[in-house]
Amino acid sequence: MTVTAAVTAGASVTAARTGQDARVKRYDCVVVGAGPAGSTTAYRLAREGASVLLLDRARFPRDKPCGGGVTGRAARLLPFSIDPVVEEVVTIAELGLGYDKRVERGSGKPLVYMTQRKRLDAYLVEQAAAAGVEFRDGTKVSGIETNGKSAKVRVNGDSIAARTVVGADGINGVSARVLELGGNQAVGVALEGNLPYGRIDRERFRGRLLIDFATVPGGYAWVFPKGDHVNFGVGGSTEEGPRLREHLRRLCERHGAELDDLGEIRGFRLPMRLASSCLSRGPALLVGDAAGLVDPASGDGMYEGILSGSHATGAVLDVLEGREETLDPYGPRLTRQLAPLLWASWSIKAALDRFPRTSFALAQTQLVWNVVERILQGDLADVRLTRGPARPLLKALALLARAAGDPGRAFRPAG
Ligand SMILES: Cc1cc2nc3c(=O)[nH]c(=O)nc-3n(C[C@H](O)[C@H](O)[C@H](O)COP(=O)(O)OP(=O)(O)OC[C@H]3O[C@@H](n4cnc5c(N)ncnc54)[C@H](O)[C@@H]3O)c2cc1C
Repeated sequence: MTVTAAVTAGASVTAARTGQDARVKRYDCVVVGAGPAGSTTAYRLAREGASVLLLDRARFPRDKPCGGGVTGRAARLLPFSIDPVVEEVVTIAELGLGYDKRVERGSGKPLVYMTQRKRLDAYLVEQAAAAGVEFRDGTKVSGIETNGKSAKVRVNGDSIAARTVVGADGINGVSARVLELGGNQAVGVALEGNLPYGRIDRERFRGRLLIDFATVPGGYAWVFPKGDHVNFGVGGSTEEGPRLREHLRRLCERHGAELDDLGEIRGFRLPMRLASSCLSRGPALLVGDAAGLVDPASGDGMYEGILSGSHATGAVLDVLEGREETLDPYGPRLTRQLAPLLWASWSIKAALDRFPRTSFALAQTQLVWNVVERILQGDLADVRLTRGPARPLLKALALLARAAGDPGRAFRPAG
């Protein structure tokens, strides 16, 4: 799919400001990678009048190994509705400890919108193109050079000029490496596959997702409902890579399915950034997985991808409109917003890994679940603001995390 919307340099923000010659094309921004982080950044910039080129090495529509769960907070942050590609709205979370003890939680409000990445990402790109973004798929970026005030993006032996560049090319991209940005504290691994409803009871999974804790070291197992199938998946720490298939087999068996019946089994990596990693310099910045923004506890990355895209848009516009010389302020600003979530997320992950029974007993209580639900729905961005009877339970979880080494301490916000 190649969608090319008319973009004239004369209409771009930079060209309008500098009177740039329309025959020498220089984009206001080149976005490398058209996942949720890249396409929503491109969309927002184009809506503000910037000339934007969005590049992806894959031919669209393309799939990406992912549970395809768009949390309420991610959906809320999107600049448009994704209703056309939502296959199931989840309102109930069924939580298990080691496939045994199970509880149901959910206030009845939407928690997660289930989609498939092939459909979602194509839809996001369509919206970007309709907003004026020039999209070229099947176009692999091989290098990026920056000189402080502009960038050159290398594609098929050609060089594309841009005032700014956004690296949104995920964990296997080139941006982070060639720009010498980013850096991860940990990289998780996950494996998932699909089972059609003919082979499993549709009603069992209607409107509900299943999460089984203490099943995969450093992670968990999940079952997500989709339109015509169920998605089974397992994720954990890097060392679990060789055992993921066995974990997936056990998950299937525990929920009445056979691993051999699963189709499209695929694995992928989950990057979790170092608190000290630099995400922007000069005319370049990173968003989404390229920046290592996956949530350590949930393994979600779409919310963080979309959020970083929104911050990136502000930073790029500041440069294009002359309020800033560089994109440097983006990294610290994003870090400040995400720090409380990352700290809490590393804490719950460490507590569940090291003390699964006690941590699960605390985490599955209605009081703590109410906090989790508010985070998932985007109503709470800092657990430290929680008041009332949930507070001692959260403090107990924080103590367990500390006893487990507190891997998120570098993100701990001051105060
Ligand atoms: C098994 C699994 C399950 C997951 N489940 C969920 C979930 O349910 N909910 C959730 O929120 N998150 C989930 N995640 C995390 C989520 O998939 C990622 O965080 C998300 O895809 C990040 O989006 P992105 O736009 O940053 O990068 P990506 O979606 O990885 O997109 C990067 C794009 O860059 C392109 N690209 C790469 N290199 C180049 C190049 N050199 N030139 C041009 N283009 C390039 C790629 O083709 C790709 O299209 C899951 C991850 C895994 C592995």
